[in-house]
Amino acid sequence: MAGAQHCPGQDPRFWKAEDVSEEPCIHCGKVVEFFKDDLRRKCPYCRQMTYNPHHDLACAAWCPSAEQCLAQYGRSLPGDEGPVQ
Ligand SMILES: [Zn+2]
Repeated sequence: MAGAQHCPGQDPRFWKAEDVSEEPCIHCGKVVEFFKDDLRRKCPYCRQMTYNPHHDLACAAWCPSAEQCLAQYGRSLPGDEGPVQ
């Protein structure tokens, strides 16, 4: 096999600066680096799970588990902010 094919978009070596964001840990407030596809990661400082507020939650539009998933992150479904009259 002459080298496995990898999608460049999935290889951090091809990522640009804007694909990485630095967000404060929700627990200790220290800055944690998130890659664009990291929804959550373990804070290297306090070793608790912290969440990426910029993660694209577009999957919530179609995923059957979206409601539970978003609740886990303290988010509500788009268009589910209140009762529709
Ligand atoms: Zn932390």
